[in-house]
Amino acid sequence: MERTKPQSTLRFFRFNAFSVQNGKNHLGLSSGRCFELEIEKSREIGFCFGVRHAIQMLERAAAEHGGIETLGAVVHNPVVIEGLARKGVRVINSPEEAKGKVVAISSHGVGPEVVERLQARGLQVVDATCPRVRNAQRAAAKLAAAGFYVIVFGDASHPEVKGVLGWAKGKGKACADIQSLPDSREIGQLLGVLSQTTQSQASFADFAAAITTARLPQLKELRLINTLCLATKRRQAAAVQLTRKHGLIIVVGGRTSANTRRLVEACAVAGAQTHLVETAADIQPQWLKDIRSVGVTAGTSTPDQAIDDVIARLQELSTGARLGHQTCD
Ligand code: SF4
Repeated sequence: MERTKPQSTLRFFRFNAFSVQNGKNHLGLSSGRCFELEIEKSREIGFCFGVRHAIQMLERAAAEHGGIETLGAVVHNPVVIEGLARKGVRVINSPEEAKGKVVAISSHGVGPEVVERLQARGLQVVDATCPRVRNAQRAAAKLAAAGFYVIVFGDASHPEVKGVLGWAKGKGKACADIQSLPDSREIGQLLGVLSQTTQSQASFADFAAAITTARLPQLKELRLINTLCLATKRRQAAAVQLTRKHGLIIVVGGRTSANTRRLVEACAVAGAQTHLVETAADIQPQWLKDIRSVGVTAGTSTPDQAIDDVIARLQELSTGARLGHQTCD
């Protein structure tokens, strides 16, 4: 069970560019004005339990075996991958690339045929599949075994989606919209629909409603399985809440991370000026121009350190390195 973190709001004082140039005494400037900049960290932010658990497993296994390999990146975040590489975790893209004796399956999971390929090579498998992804895999396997065609709502190129479809044993397809649904002859009369864990609740509900309207007449049974992850739902809801208070939202996370991109979309749709940054170095000072408050959120694959660095950088930009945290009159 994840704990909800206490809300954290920081207030720093920002001076316009003209006043910051005088590092000695900002109060002596006649034309400088000061503004309070509020920085609010989302209640739901950063690593989810699945990612934290997977990273701990990999670190332990690497220490125990003197280095391991992971099949695909454990999470889509370059900061995390670089940190793990320093601890002896090397990323490979297929079982055939393995050079060591131990290979870990990432939190995204894989299909059963991939596990078989690893085992056929005599490799020891460390399974760091997130339990929620495993639930989706089980749902796909159960549906396929009961004769259902399986639709996974999500990104066909994402490793989690490929892995889940692997458990449907060739009786399924990933679809991002109903236009890409197979025709009724291929689907048959039994259809099961589940979702990539990181999709938004609203878009999955829309997709399910569209399928019901378009395909129900040709079906004997339609099963809808909720495989959305609460961790991503909660982060999206908290991020949207932030947009009600702040016109600028900084989302910290990997550019290829699906759940981070969902956060960016949710904040942008809610009307906030939204920027995705992988590290503090990506923050552009001009984003803060005429801004009084900023909300900070992060995807489930974003490490605490990256979030702390972004907040420190915002503080630095808002106060000016030489002024420190002086208050305005
Ligand atoms: S976002 Fe959810 S499904 Fe994905 S790794 Fe985290 S807990 Fe698991």
